[in-house]
Amino acid sequence: MLDLIAAHGAEQVALTADPDTGLRAIVAIHSTVLGPSLGGTRFRPYATENEALTDVLRLARGMTYKHAACGNAYGGGKAVIIGDPAVVRTDDLIRTYARFIDRLGGRYLTAEDVGTTQADMDLIRTITPYATGASEALGGSGDPSPATAWGVLHALCAVAARLWDDESLVERHVAISGVGKVGHALARYLAEAGARLTVADVRAELATSVANEVGADVVDTSDIHRVACDIYSPCALGAVLNETTIPELRCAAICGCANNQLATPEDGARLAAHDVLYAPDYVVNAGGVINIAHEIGDGGYDHARAWDRIAGIGETLTKIFALADEKDVTPADAADRFAEARLAAAATAQATRATRPTRQ
Ligand code: NAD
Repeated sequence: MLDLIAAHGAEQVALTADPDTGLRAIVAIHSTVLGPSLGGTRFRPYATENEALTDVLRLARGMTYKHAACGNAYGGGKAVIIGDPAVVRTDDLIRTYARFIDRLGGRYLTAEDVGTTQADMDLIRTITPYATGASEALGGSGDPSPATAWGVLHALCAVAARLWDDESLVERHVAISGVGKVGHALARYLAEAGARLTVADVRAELATSVANEVGADVVDTSDIHRVACDIYSPCALGAVLNETTIPELRCAAICGCANNQLATPEDGARLAAHDVLYAPDYVVNAGGVINIAHEIGDGGYDHARAWDRIAGIGETLTKIFALADEKDVTPADAADRFAEARLAAAATAQATRATRPTRQ
């Protein structure tokens, strides 16, 4: 287990197992260089404890990069609860989990993720202040999906500006794969912006109803990446850009909210070789975490202030494209360098503060 932690890198890993409620959970704090770690709690039936540990370490590291790239004053952390929520979740288990989070003293702040709900966050909040994404009625920021979609919209404008010297999306053809919480909100924003849309979803009836609402065409999920369009927007699963799909793409750019879109790091170079501009996923989909970070900020959550900052994702992406040009690397590599530069600057500032003599 310690080798696994060393391989992924983490400041701290905390584990708990409670025989009374059946809670088995792991928190991984990858970095607190920029601030307390913040990331969601994933609740799923991992086959082994090692699989759960690997997942939480990988996800926590990803959060460090996401916060760093979007300018949040938070570090990377993530948690997993092992088990099928439909089978093992009880209010007592969630309360016990909340006490576990509380004992970390604010070094880790949790949020909703796959398998946990806003109701879980509301319950956790009754035990500890170290939970975000509570419902709006409780002063929280609510469902992060519209915020994520708002960020993707601004990322799409930055892509358009980069490719066509015009950030307008009027008559730009965007193909969206997955019209769930984020994809649906994005389709609405894009329709308002005058874009032409094609959508696909494994829930065929959902694809049809969204298409009717926003005036989109519908294609099968196996064909959406092959649609001749300006921008392909993956908003469902990860690993959709791989050695099979990339040669079939007929778009000028990729820009969507799905996490981990590149199946392997080499796929970033593969996209560039196919002359497809890639907007790095963790930069594009940071709207949700920017929104949540505002919940903890001064004066509590303010929707307008949060939305303003989320719109800045477009500007961040423009900087990342410029860095890719300057360093002659792919946008995916440039995003990592961009995040690492911010982390390095914060670590240096921290070290300087620590070595500065204090007045007696
Ligand atoms: P969601 O579950 O509400 O929507 C996903 C949609 O994709 C569903 O409608 C589902 O039917 C569809 N789908 C599943 N498999 C598909 C396939 N093979 N082809 C096409 N459609 C398929 O999830 P969401 O919250 O909208 O998130 C979408 C993606 O964005 C996920 O990868 C998520 O991790 C990522 N993301 C979400 C947020 C957020 O704020 N919700 C933030 C950052 C990243």
